[in-house]
Amino acid sequence: MMTDMRAQPGIMDIALYQGGASRIEGQADPLKLSSNENPLGASPKVAEAVAAAALSLHRYPPTDHAALRTAIAEVHGLDADRIICGVGSDEILTLLAMAFAGPGDEVLYTEHGFGLYRIFALSAGATPVVAPERERRIDVDLLLRHVTPATRLIYIANPANPTGTALDMAELTRLADALPEQCLLVLDGAYAEFFAGYDGGAALVTARANVAMTRTFSKLYGLGGLRVGWGYASQHVIDVLNRIRGPFNMSSVALAGAEAAMRDRGFVEICLRENAEQRARLIGGLRQLGIACDDSEANFVLACFADEGEALAADAHLKSAGILVRLVKGYGFPEALRITVGRAEDVTRVLDALASFRQAA
Ligand code: PMP
Repeated sequence: MMTDMRAQPGIMDIALYQGGASRIEGQADPLKLSSNENPLGASPKVAEAVAAAALSLHRYPPTDHAALRTAIAEVHGLDADRIICGVGSDEILTLLAMAFAGPGDEVLYTEHGFGLYRIFALSAGATPVVAPERERRIDVDLLLRHVTPATRLIYIANPANPTGTALDMAELTRLADALPEQCLLVLDGAYAEFFAGYDGGAALVTARANVAMTRTFSKLYGLGGLRVGWGYASQHVIDVLNRIRGPFNMSSVALAGAEAAMRDRGFVEICLRENAEQRARLIGGLRQLGIACDDSEANFVLACFADEGEALAADAHLKSAGILVRLVKGYGFPEALRITVGRAEDVTRVLDALASFRQAA
């Protein structure tokens, strides 16, 4: 049906985002390793805080998110005034595009970058520009070659999804130093905590006006369902974002749950230790089976097969064993599967299933 309700230019070029699958036909309770969720769930303190907050649902939540920002600032040693909270880090990432890029501007990211970057650019009316990577890694020089006077925003996930590879601080600093003033470097830190010794780029943000950082409660904190993320940037950037965000974007339940999760450092330590151990086991086990994978600094591993046919066959085999992983053809890796690091028993199940896949081949 024809309609006069014409969407803004760029919007009809957006394909609907396909998230990780959550079901396998005929399997009641699959082992879900397709969305990089925390296999240990969330801190038990979250349920308590959420239940308490649920007693006052007739009240609007605070608009300034002060308690959550203070908790984040205390844990990370940051200035609470330079923090903004959002409905997942998705919201912060999209607000950045809305605020700083528009028609005629370019938004730059890399070949295997997170699928939403293109959507954020097009929703803002800007032009998405894609720089190549080198062997599944972001290459600062290749990226810089694609910066033009029209580039307003660069999105980099560090560690990157779906490769799990990361740039070190020296490379990030070199990139930030080389950028023209009008260009904001956005360090998407959805997986930052899993990269040992990395601060998500916080020190770089503190020192420079043209760098911003986003973080999430969806991965390490096990709160993908609560939808909480945050950003840290210059006072000016935060001021701009606060003007365009919904005043009541964060529900009182989300604010309370995220604050409890942030303050439970004991649980965070357990999750990080478990992830590091099981990630090493998964990588070691895959390589023993002759399945190539890079070292990962995140909570998932990109398992690379000989070709697309083999990756699809491995995926089907995993599904028949009740295991759900992520096909990443849409990220430019038809020959690979992205596998979230699970608990010890989950990793064993994956490796056993892939061993039987190898034997059957
Ligand atoms: N950035 C990257 C690289 C991601 O992988 C994800 C989640 N898949 C996000 C951002 C968004 O996460 P959320 O909105 O749940 O914070």
